[in-house]
Amino acid sequence: GSAPPELQEKTLVLVKPDAVQRRLVGNVIQRFERRGFKLVAMKLLQADQGLLDKHYQQLRQKPFYPALLAYMTSGPLVAMVWEGYNVVRSTRAMVGDTDSAAAAAGTIRGDFSMHVSRNVVHASDSVETARREIGFWFQRDELVAWESGDQAYTY
Ligand code: ADP
Ligand code: MG
Repeated sequence: GSAPPELQEKTLVLVKPDAVQRRLVGNVIQRFERRGFKLVAMKLLQADQGLLDKHYQQLRQKPFYPALLAYMTSGPLVAMVWEGYNVVRSTRAMVGDTDSAAAAAGTIRGDFSMHVSRNVVHASDSVETARREIGFWFQRDELVAWESGDQAYTY
């Protein structure tokens, strides 16, 4: 698109299997839309271990990794790419603390989750991580460039 580069920052959000099962997909999407971010890719899929081993490569030695794999493969999840100004940091703030028990009310985890092992969503933790993660979950041609045609991305 023709938007300036700082408006084209992207992040990966996963609505994890517990949230799909609990019918929270719409609520999560609504929060990002309301903030003004632009949805540029989305799909429902059943993740397999190969994909999750790449996505969570830095956690593979953790004692909770087998449980994390079981959780993330327990049902379908929704993968999305959101775009906009400062979207990586803003999304982390909207998602809240990794440990749901410490997550502030008003954040997604603080509103919908009580425990780290079922924490509803994933969001990339840096612009560089986002670039890599988006490549794990989406083909290049699954990202859609579109003009929003409204005021949401204007400053
Ligand atoms: P975040 O998802 O906030 O970026 P991490 O990258 O540290 O957090 O961890 C990735 C995911 O691994 C968490 O979202 C959570 O699903 C799981 N996880 C992290 N720590 C624990 C833990 N102590 N016990 C169980 N699951 C955990
Ligand atoms: Mg992380």
